[in-house]
Amino acid sequence: MWDGGTWSEASGGLRLPLRDPWTGQQFTDVPSASSDDVDRMVRRAKTTFAAGTWSRMAPSERGRILIAWADLVELHADELAILISREMGKPAREARDVEVISVARNLRWYGELADKLMDESPRGLTDALALVTREPLGVVAAITPWNFPLSLAMLKIAPALMAGNSLILKPALQTSVSSLRLAELSAQAGLPEGVFHVVTGRGSMLGPALGRHRDVACITFTGSTEIGLQLLGDAAASDGKPVHLELGGKSPNVIFGDAPDLDTAIATALWAFTYNSGQMCTAGSRLFVEHSIYDQVVQGLCDGAKNLVIGDPLDPLTTLGPLSSSSQCETVVEYIRTGVEQGAQLVTGSTDALDPDRSTVAPAVFVGTDNTMQIAREEIFGPVVCVQPFTDEDDALRLANDTEYGLAASIWTSDVSRIHRMARGLDAGTVWVNSYEDGVPSTPFAGRKLSGNGADKGTYAIDKYSQLKTTWIAL
Ligand code: NAP
Repeated sequence: MWDGGTWSEASGGLRLPLRDPWTGQQFTDVPSASSDDVDRMVRRAKTTFAAGTWSRMAPSERGRILIAWADLVELHADELAILISREMGKPAREARDVEVISVARNLRWYGELADKLMDESPRGLTDALALVTREPLGVVAAITPWNFPLSLAMLKIAPALMAGNSLILKPALQTSVSSLRLAELSAQAGLPEGVFHVVTGRGSMLGPALGRHRDVACITFTGSTEIGLQLLGDAAASDGKPVHLELGGKSPNVIFGDAPDLDTAIATALWAFTYNSGQMCTAGSRLFVEHSIYDQVVQGLCDGAKNLVIGDPLDPLTTLGPLSSSSQCETVVEYIRTGVEQGAQLVTGSTDALDPDRSTVAPAVFVGTDNTMQIAREEIFGPVVCVQPFTDEDDALRLANDTEYGLAASIWTSDVSRIHRMARGLDAGTVWVNSYEDGVPSTPFAGRKLSGNGADKGTYAIDKYSQLKTTWIAL
């Protein structure tokens, strides 16, 4: 494990195997940490914080180190991409061009911001000067998923470190190796010892150990709604520390008959539920289509799905890799079977895995679904979409908002007034108009309802990793 600049084993000496989902073979193993290891890392991170080597370093210097780290990430993009690909099956080309590039971009963005933030002071106080300042929290614990293992982790690491905190990262077990390599590059960039730690092992043990630790000042989590809610319980059972949650989704993608470019809308709708083999929190897994273009859209999706190249994630021609593990593959297949059993019609795809030994599943397009069906309500995390027709704008809005999640939504239309009405009406943290999954480091990414409570990205994320102080000076 990465213990703030040095390598360490788990105190019990245990290791856990990691499997490549494409070959089904073990490709390495990693230490299986215990709560004692968590405690050791937290104490070291706290000592470093108190010493001020990072927490009181000049912001410009902190920024310089983060930017140097971003440069190293870019330099090692191929290597990091191949690690990610072997860990969880993402096509290596996409792991490099999307995932790793996003890591470098966000890291650099926060690095450049480090010495440009201002504190505040209210004007016009007659006999006093009040200073409103922001201070780092101390030790932040970040717990992250496997689907975008480095980019999602970096959305927490970069603002938390930039704000002066120490940080413990608990990556998904499956994607521990790429996280460890990322951490190693931080030392090369000049991050002082004892600031950034990566603890590996089972989340079921390490999550509560972090969530209940009194010296962890805040938990920042991206993952499933179920585990996110458990972490709120851990915090409540210990010290009530803040728990920032980026959770699951069941995002609606709404195509109106006046979409400016229907071919693009269809191609994007296909991308939105198949990208990363559908293992995307923002997957457009509920597609609502105006009656007049419904048949055309369904046909377009079926034709497009057949052209996707499902195969070896290390092959540059592959567009869809395997699912992240054999158990994820079984879960997705089970959902497809449930959809058929509950009366939905599978117009493309299969109720069996393409190749269970390689954890591959063909994209599945369901019609004849309604919002009561399990496949339309629950997050599947696989390449499965439910396509439903709608009659008018009100109908589209009602169907789209009929979900417990509130992560993202997309609409396709040329009508400017409708764009604004729909964007206001959709109960989601992000609404894309005539696009999907677009954004820049400065735009916040936030979920509502069962999709979470915090915001990653931009200056908004910094609020999570700093605390306010008022200093009142009588004059
Ligand atoms: P997960 O099962 O919730 O795991 C996420 C992380 O939590 C992993 O590091 C996991 O460790 C750890 N964990 C497991 N049990 C824990 C516990 N009891 N306490 C604390 N941590 C624990 O999610 P996943 O399967 O990795 O990722 C898929 C989910 O993440 C989906 O629901 C997806 O929608 C969501 N997601 C949300 C966003 C967003 O920004 N809103 C982005 C991406 C993904 P182990 O790996 O060791 O079990």
